[in-house]
Amino acid sequence: MQEYKIAIIGGGPAGMIAAIKAAEELGPKTVCIIEKNDTLGRKLLLTGGGRCNITNNTPIHNQLNYYNKNKNFLKHALYTLSQDKLLAIFENKGLEFHQEDNKRVFPDSEDAHDILDILEEYLEELEVDIYTKCPINTNDIEHELNEKMQPVFEIQNDKLSLNASKLIVSTGGITYPVTGSSGDGYKIASKMNHTITDIKPGLVSFNVDDFLLRSLSGLSLNNVELSFKDKKKKISVKGDVLISHFGLTGPAVINLSNKLIEKSKFTILDENLNLKDDDEIEKLELYTNKISIDFTPDFTEEDIKSQITKDTPNNGTLKIKNYMKKFLPNNFIDYFLMKLDISPNKTMANITKKEKNKISENLKRQVIEIESLETNLAKVTIGGVRSKEIDSKTLQSRFVEGLYFAGEILEIAGPTGGYNLQIAFSTGYLAGKEAANSLK
Ligand SMILES: Cc1cc2nc3c(=O)[nH]c(=O)nc-3n(C[C@H](O)[C@H](O)[C@H](O)COP(=O)(O)OP(=O)(O)OC[C@H]3O[C@@H](n4cnc5c(N)ncnc54)[C@H](O)[C@@H]3O)c2cc1C
Repeated sequence: MQEYKIAIIGGGPAGMIAAIKAAEELGPKTVCIIEKNDTLGRKLLLTGGGRCNITNNTPIHNQLNYYNKNKNFLKHALYTLSQDKLLAIFENKGLEFHQEDNKRVFPDSEDAHDILDILEEYLEELEVDIYTKCPINTNDIEHELNEKMQPVFEIQNDKLSLNASKLIVSTGGITYPVTGSSGDGYKIASKMNHTITDIKPGLVSFNVDDFLLRSLSGLSLNNVELSFKDKKKKISVKGDVLISHFGLTGPAVINLSNKLIEKSKFTILDENLNLKDDDEIEKLELYTNKISIDFTPDFTEEDIKSQITKDTPNNGTLKIKNYMKKFLPNNFIDYFLMKLDISPNKTMANITKKEKNKISENLKRQVIEIESLETNLAKVTIGGVRSKEIDSKTLQSRFVEGLYFAGEILEIAGPTGGYNLQIAFSTGYLAGKEAANSLK
């Protein structure tokens, strides 16, 4: 049986960085990664459309407000491996980075392969053993105490046989399954007495059953505000919306989806922690199906009303569809007016006061009904191993000595924009560091 100080299950960003940090501390041949796929980092290669939006330069103290579940849980991890320290790991190997809108950071080469190549280079230099094509099941892991009453994890199946003093589980979530995410880690954690919170697809698009809207596929609505009502409060997100052949997508939609899904009470796992059937998942009940688009977030409804009233006398012969270019993209105007039952060819002089009010009201609040979530392409899993059961300073289980969790398997998920990779890297690094230091 092969002996290691630290074994890591799952070779995504969290597992790879955990192995690098642990091997730096403990030396060659002390750490191994066990990965189900034939290669490491399959999901990493898809990030940012293949360009890898590796992190976000929003200051950490502001980022923490985005994680509404036990938000301080990530504080120590994010400060231990901050954005700058993360980028330095790659800059030391010659990769450079640039910042794009909304403080999103990408490698200058715009190629996720470069990130993966550097991680693999470190793993090789540090002599981390890598076992690929080795899916680990709950029954493959035995946990016991040795004669010195220290924990030992034995991992055995028909592909490998090894033991380790520490075990880091970084198997990711259960969404985007082609990359290897099948929720296996939830079963491993549950067998070790951990609670798995409600599991939901996150960062998703919305299916909308509106043929005319969908026929505008490819059209962007820039700088709008999307919202839904939470009792009396408005929950909103600003950004761009993209109309697609199935409904609505784009950064604002994807970020609002997390807020809506977090408010909705459901889980996509059955009581045995297996994924529910597709048709059951399709019928998931959302907190609300109605979202509202504000096309002019910088103006009040009153501003718009008085603007239209002011413009009418000088534009009496102008068709309303042409006047609306002031507020909406050209190709969206017919759809918008059709929804309000106003002829696009009506002249400004003939628009009634009631119609003007309707236009102003709908520019601020056009309601769209969501048919369902487009779950197949969810970018992240919301929910996971309950954070309160893990020590945030070390990421060690509060129940099982020597067991650590890192990455998307944890219950906390971030918005789109580089936050989720930063969480994976920061938590992986902290788990690797702490697991190694506890053995020194
Ligand atoms: C299309 C897409 C684009 C994205 N773009 C971005 C982006 O630009 N920026 C960003 O911040 N985030 C992005 N994300 C999210 C980000 O990729 C994930 O949050 C991140 O990869 C999580 O890292 P992880 O190491 O925790 O899990 P993963 O990357 O999922 O890695 C887990 C690994 O564990 C392995 N594994 C699972 N079960 C077992 C088992 N039983 N035995 C052995 N191995 C196992 C898996 O095969 C996998 O290799 C994107 C996600 C998707 C799907």
